[in-house]
Amino acid sequence: MNNLVVLGATGSIGTQTLEVVQSLNNWNIMALTANTNIELLKKQINKFEPEYAVIMKKNLIRKLEKLIKTKNTKILSGMEGLNYVAALKNTDLVINALVGAAGLRPTISALKADNKVGLANKESLVIGGELINDKYLTGENNILPVDSEHNAIFNLLKNHQKKDVKNIWLTASGGPFYDLPAENFKEVSVSQALNHPNWDMGKKITIDSATLMNKGLEVIEAHWLFDLDYDKIKVIIHPESIIHSLVEFIDNTYQAEIGPSDMKIPIQNVLTYPIIQESDSKTLNLNKLNQLTFKTPDFDKFKLLKLAYQAGRKKGSAPIILNAANEIAVNAFLEKKIKFNQIPESIEKVLNVNMKLKNLTVDKIFEIDSWARDKTREVIKNVYNNN
Ligand code: NAD
Ligand code: MG
Repeated sequence: MNNLVVLGATGSIGTQTLEVVQSLNNWNIMALTANTNIELLKKQINKFEPEYAVIMKKNLIRKLEKLIKTKNTKILSGMEGLNYVAALKNTDLVINALVGAAGLRPTISALKADNKVGLANKESLVIGGELINDKYLTGENNILPVDSEHNAIFNLLKNHQKKDVKNIWLTASGGPFYDLPAENFKEVSVSQALNHPNWDMGKKITIDSATLMNKGLEVIEAHWLFDLDYDKIKVIIHPESIIHSLVEFIDNTYQAEIGPSDMKIPIQNVLTYPIIQESDSKTLNLNKLNQLTFKTPDFDKFKLLKLAYQAGRKKGSAPIILNAANEIAVNAFLEKKIKFNQIPESIEKVLNVNMKLKNLTVDKIFEIDSWARDKTREVIKNVYNNN
């Protein structure tokens, strides 16, 4: 048996990870974590009997203890708990399926403890890529990407040298509003924005897919994962989400990963790496696939994609501010405090500050992160007359 820690077990990636784990049948669950969903966490603890479980709020520990049947699971809380389980000894893999900047410290804790990370939490690399690359990546393949595009590229690059890569192409579905005129963005409702055409995901990434910020974050994620210049990281709109990404080589050939849109595939790929095993994911029937389409991204209509390239290139505080402002703006949209078109507008208002950073530390990253969160809240409050 292999030992697995699942951070963010109750979310979209977390629950799908546990489904894959059940079908593979060779993983022992060491730890499961959740933010506040103790009902689901309770069920997962009763089923998998992990050594540890983590709940973010300390005052929920008692409640959870009363709910679970097993006496063998120790319940911890907060960031301290996340860092502790991410660094557990005898762990073969830590799946980081947390959402947002909260994922960074546990990613670093796992890497420091020499635990391999299956990374879904792209925000870890967006805000901490520079630091992680400088200080915490000691060997090859310490981070295995779960994000479908990056998982595809990771596998496509396996038997090739970096010098032979001309470009990588991240595919983007374009989200539900790709063809909607920009002037209609202000009328987009929360439920329309949460209705993604191809993928069923957590709320934050679903909104990020509708604004194309998700692809922007993925461009930065790819920069750090594959050590490629931003000029070599391209985005192409591919509404069918069948091609998960492509690598263009210097001899002008492309290699692509094609498959069903089902996150169980990259999740399983990370769990069984480097071996390929049968999957109980959706399947893809080529006979029923009439066409594959591609469109050039519209960087003016989806400004966050442009801003993400800019922030990625600037490095320093820029990607940290971009990410923090986005988390606040997305939340404000979900809470109906701002309109859909005001997500990029409010982020842009915060982004004009940039600090060059020397000797980056995690604490410094979170100092900038919380400054940007406050600033974005202020913008939303003042400019849009809401709080
Ligand atoms: P989700 O919202 O469904 O789940 C997030 C998980 O993290 C939950 O278990 C939640 O309890 C926990 N969590 C949330 N906030 C927390 C906090 N502040 N502290 C501690 N725990 C917290 O999100 P998701 O869709 O599963 O996405 C997770 C990550 O994977 C994101 O970074 C996302 O971009 C990435 N990702 C998701 C998909 C997908 O299909 N859902 C695909 C590719 C990449
Ligand atoms: Mg993705």
